[in-house]
Amino acid sequence: MNYQGPKGTHDILPGEVEKWQFLEETARLIFNDYQYQEIRTPMFEHIEVITRSVGDTTDIVTKEMYDFYDKGERHITLRPEGTAPVVRSFVEHKLFGPEYAKPYKVFYTGPMFRYERPQKGRLRQFHQIGVEAFGSENPATDVETMLMALDFFKQLGLSELRLVINTLGDQETRQNYRQALIDYLMPHKETLSEDSQRRLLENPLRVLDSKDKRDQQIVANAPSILEHLSAASKKHFDEVVAMLDALEVTYEIDKNMVRGLDYYTHTIFEIMSDAKGMGAQNTICAGGRYNQLVADLGGPETPGFGFALGMERVLLVLEAEGVTLPTQHALDAYVVNLGEATNIEALKVVQSIRQAGFSADRDVLNRKAKAQFKTADKLGAKLVLTIGESELESGVINVKAMANRKEIQVPLTDIYQDFLAIYDELMKEEEI
Ligand code: ATP
Ligand code: MG
Repeated sequence: MNYQGPKGTHDILPGEVEKWQFLEETARLIFNDYQYQEIRTPMFEHIEVITRSVGDTTDIVTKEMYDFYDKGERHITLRPEGTAPVVRSFVEHKLFGPEYAKPYKVFYTGPMFRYERPQKGRLRQFHQIGVEAFGSENPATDVETMLMALDFFKQLGLSELRLVINTLGDQETRQNYRQALIDYLMPHKETLSEDSQRRLLENPLRVLDSKDKRDQQIVANAPSILEHLSAASKKHFDEVVAMLDALEVTYEIDKNMVRGLDYYTHTIFEIMSDAKGMGAQNTICAGGRYNQLVADLGGPETPGFGFALGMERVLLVLEAEGVTLPTQHALDAYVVNLGEATNIEALKVVQSIRQAGFSADRDVLNRKAKAQFKTADKLGAKLVLTIGESELESGVINVKAMANRKEIQVPLTDIYQDFLAIYDELMKEEEI
């Protein structure tokens, strides 16, 4: 039997996982600067949490859910996205209460699950880093959250990015627009894809989000939501735009952008990469405002704003832009040990170095000197300690700094007592 991981999933192996840790670490540092704290919710939810939030007519709900009945007959789904679970948690734990910070700001990272057609940058288990801010209606929240996403990408060293924004307005706006959109689409009904025909009356905004080429041609000339904004919606969007201008942020307005989830209101945005070779999967981050979602899931009326970025796609863009991330953790010391008689001493040495707070490793395969030095090199060891049978006898070993080739003879007792001093002595020159 030849086992393989399920279609659309991937293993993240050592050598690759360091890049993932780097993305997560960078996000954590930047998001903390903006006062976001981490939240961890379950990988699965009651299906209603997702259907109520994301919307019954969306691709995610109609085609992409990994849902099942558990042994207690509960209808469960693996989470396809992070916002609905976080909102569920926000409501369940009454995080809107007076004892909590306002706005209440959280971030998450982890796997999401969608039954999609796997291709480059599109998987069935993929990973997102996302944020949610609850309790602010201020357009400044929209802007600073978008800027936080841009900060993250800038910190990673990405430059060929585009911020694209639009607004979906409030309920009044969408009612006005819905009719205008239906009036426009009706005469084209026969030409639309099957999905779009079905959605035309149910949720015409979804037609704007169609991935079908013919649909996209028809939609290109559709009336713009920007001409149907209520006064309050227009004010909010104008303020967002004015703030972006005031901060000299470059952006585009795409009047046909609607996003794939129903919970958005007012500002929505995407960050796209123009790096060569990204193909159709060039949106690396997307999000927006959701002012009804908390109430829809049973909480008090609470505005929200958030985004999610796709980690697989970010890694592809980093590669496309030629940005390299660390792929291995530095090793402070490698202990070369020659001859079986040195086995116990090598164990003592490597353990004492670790106890002193350094990273260390040793050969355990009784290999020849050449192979051990090669390993030390491959691991990027800063110091190499060598114990042979004569060193065992004399109680003095050779310690060599690989960067500056400096070598000293050190009594084993010194290594046990104060490895830090030895490390400092050998590494000093290099740091100057
Ligand atoms: P797309 O239009 O590409 O399907 P989406 O609108 O479904 O994206 P969101 O639900 O807004 O995407 O998710 C936010 C981000 O998560 C996307 O911009 C993308 O970077 C990433 N993402 C979404 N679906 C996948 C997937 N199946 N595989 C990898 N990354 C994904
Ligand atoms: Mg999608």
